[in-house]
Amino acid sequence: SIGPVEYKILAQQFNEMSRKLKESFDNLYSSESARRELIANVSHDLRTPLASIQSFVEALEDDVIKDEITFQRYLHTIRLETVRLGGLIHDLFVLSSMEAQGEIFDPQPYHADELLISTLESFSLHLEEKQLKVEIEMPDKLSAANMMPAQIKRVLSNLLQNAIQYSPNGGKIVLSAHEQENTYLRISVTDEGEGIEAAETSRIFERFYRVDKSRSKSSGGAGLGLAIAKSIVQLHGGEIGVRSSTGEGSCFWFTLPIYTSRKTATD
Ligand code: ADP
Repeated sequence: SIGPVEYKILAQQFNEMSRKLKESFDNLYSSESARRELIANVSHDLRTPLASIQSFVEALEDDVIKDEITFQRYLHTIRLETVRLGGLIHDLFVLSSMEAQGEIFDPQPYHADELLISTLESFSLHLEEKQLKVEIEMPDKLSAANMMPAQIKRVLSNLLQNAIQYSPNGGKIVLSAHEQENTYLRISVTDEGEGIEAAETSRIFERFYRVDKSRSKSSGGAGLGLAIAKSIVQLHGGEIGVRSSTGEGSCFWFTLPIYTSRKTATD
């Protein structure tokens, strides 16, 4: 049952979240107007789960719930909403620390094929749930690219997560990697989902931008995934984009500079 200990844990979680949130604001925007805009966006996204947590906690406090099942259901909702809040704040934190000045960029030569496979594996359950087919297209031998693997894995995860989320059940996702003119590695994730209208394709990489707000809301997305991906790819000196047609699907791609051992003297 919920007692002083559980309240204390909840309170601690909130304190930790607000500390991180404040840190994110401070890092992310130095200009006052940009900061205000961000706060408006974030508050909007925080308000819904917070209001829900608040009302459930109040109901528990009032001791009006007599049956165990309702009780557990309330606790479960509180936990889900807390996780959702935590996820949003985590994303904000990642984004802000990436964009904070003095970010250490320390890439190493790394083979993308391993990364593609291991990222894919981490989504096996979700793929199975929607009965999605996956095809991998890449040459037998791929050059290593300059990257911070954990961050590129995050880019891939964000793209894959979206591809899965916006795919119809039983659809196909194609993961591809190939070299471009011996200079760039190009990785793409293609889905057979609903696609994105041309007018929206440039905006989806903005923070908090969601094409269909109600649709994304139900799945808990905050519109930060692509902004984070873009930030990471740009840090690596690559590019990110999408080709999409409504009703047919989307192809999200990004490039990474291929590793060359012969660096110029000025590097
Ligand atoms: P979210 O958390 O909402 O998924 P993202 O930054 O990852 O945030 O994506 C921003 C928006 O771009 C999404 O809300 C969705 O409208 C659109 N989008 C992203 N990926 C796809 C996709 N594969 N197919 C269709 N729409 C997509």
